[in-house]
Amino acid sequence: MSFNINLRSLMPEFFKLSKTTLIKGMQCELYLYLLKHRPKEKTPHDALTLQKFDQGKSFEARFKDTFPGGIAVDQALGKDIYAIGSSFTKAIFEQGQAATLFEACFLYRQTLVMADVCQVYADGSFDLYEVKNGTEAREVFLRDMAIQYYVIKNTRQELRHFYLVLNDGEDGFVVKDMTETLEAELPRLEALVPRLLQTLLLPEAPEILMGAQCHKPYDCEYIAYCTKKK
Ligand code: SF4
Repeated sequence: MSFNINLRSLMPEFFKLSKTTLIKGMQCELYLYLLKHRPKEKTPHDALTLQKFDQGKSFEARFKDTFPGGIAVDQALGKDIYAIGSSFTKAIFEQGQAATLFEACFLYRQTLVMADVCQVYADGSFDLYEVKNGTEAREVFLRDMAIQYYVIKNTRQELRHFYLVLNDGEDGFVVKDMTETLEAELPRLEALVPRLLQTLLLPEAPEILMGAQCHKPYDCEYIAYCTKKK
């Protein structure tokens, strides 16, 4: 499907949190604060981590290939996706036609999320697919999806199903309906997002000691920084 949207007519919308920063804020509020206020102090990802990211991206691309004709919002907008991605997504919904979007953007409470695959139906209802190159629904996947579900459900009530797409162990796909599980996570996110927005506004870094959270669920990018400060 092609789209007929004048990109210059789209209103920019601004955000303070993204799915990535929120996940890191769930790991440690100091992590979130440092990402915002000390971005240059991060330790770059190592080669193994970058290789895992690439494997995840290629698994995701193969799942997207099962939706021929999908509109890749990231490719259509380039770096403008951060400013007008949510307006663009709204405009697609307003066309009242069936469409598949890759990286559809949704913004709620200054939090921007991008959905791997968004299948929009002509009546305005839609399904979402989050693709993870793992064989089990891990806790960290649940956090990721819970953030998306919170933002998207509060943006558009017409969300029907939120699916998790996993690797079947042989590079095929296993699709699980996570909608009920994610609905139960909404109260947690309702409390968390306003608190993390406040954390970003603190005049000084919150005092948090290093501990188990520095490595769970992933190694924090500020381990060297916080070790130096001890
Ligand atoms: S290294 Fe540990 S204490 Fe420091 S920001 Fe990261 S998770 Fe928080």
